Amino acid sequence: MQKGEQLYEGKAKKVFATDDPQRLIVSYKDDATAFNGQKKGTIAGKGAVNNRMSNLLMQRLEQAGVPTHFIEELNERETLVKRVEIVPLEVIVRNIAAGSFSQRYGVGEGVVFREPTVEFSYKNDALGDPLLNAGHAVAMGLATESELETICAYALRVDKELREFWAGCGVTLVDFKLEFGRLPDGTIVLADEISPDTCRLWDSKTGEKLDKDRFRRDLGGVEEAYREVMERLLLRI
Ligand code: C5P
Repeated sequence: MQKGEQLYEGKAKKVFATDDPQRLIVSYKDDATAFNGQKKGTIAGKGAVNNRMSNLLMQRLEQAGVPTHFIEELNERETLVKRVEIVPLEVIVRNIAAGSFSQRYGVGEGVVFREPTVEFSYKNDALGDPLLNAGHAVAMGLATESELETICAYALRVDKELREFWAGCGVTLVDFKLEFGRLPDGTIVLADEISPDTCRLWDSKTGEKLDKDRFRRDLGGVEEAYREVMERLLLRI
């Protein structure tokens, strides 16, 4: 597999072409941003943790019937993935109130929901990724009704699998963000990453935050938290 030109550089990853037009290489960086790029920093070792964790979790999800873009881990920071057309939605699943949900609806952080909830944001940095509903997404042509049904079903399956998995590591899965893509034949697959950058992970006993909120909220111990969840995952996988 030949690594080709860089196609894209995002906040946390770079994407490279390969000699196969249907395959891309994703390279994970240590750069961290928050609040739509207003806060910037570096989390040493984050790229390696996120690459490994995302790949291990995606392989698990494949086994549970959720198709993903994952093909092969190439090295500590790089992974070969299927080229997809990203559906421009952030698909957020919440089990416990936190973050923007707590702020928007005045529900205290830590309140456990009766049911998991799925919400969408429009992936658009210039607009600050605004919340939108399924009707808006269909009206704007971002996804079809049937694609949204598939996406919601996969998102809830991911939640169930990952909640059980993390519980076995002594970690509570509070919420997370997923992105989906379309293969050339229109098949919807899970894309992007699943990592402490994109999930809220709390220690089940102490409630300690083991995710990017440590960076967002200047709590310290950011690198240690990423290492800690990775170690717990490796003990269980
Ligand atoms: O900030 P908010 O409460 O909406 O975040 C919900 C979940 O989605 C959190 O786990 C957060 O890490 C993730 N998220 C993300 N990328 C964004 C927005 C949220 O990974 N742009």
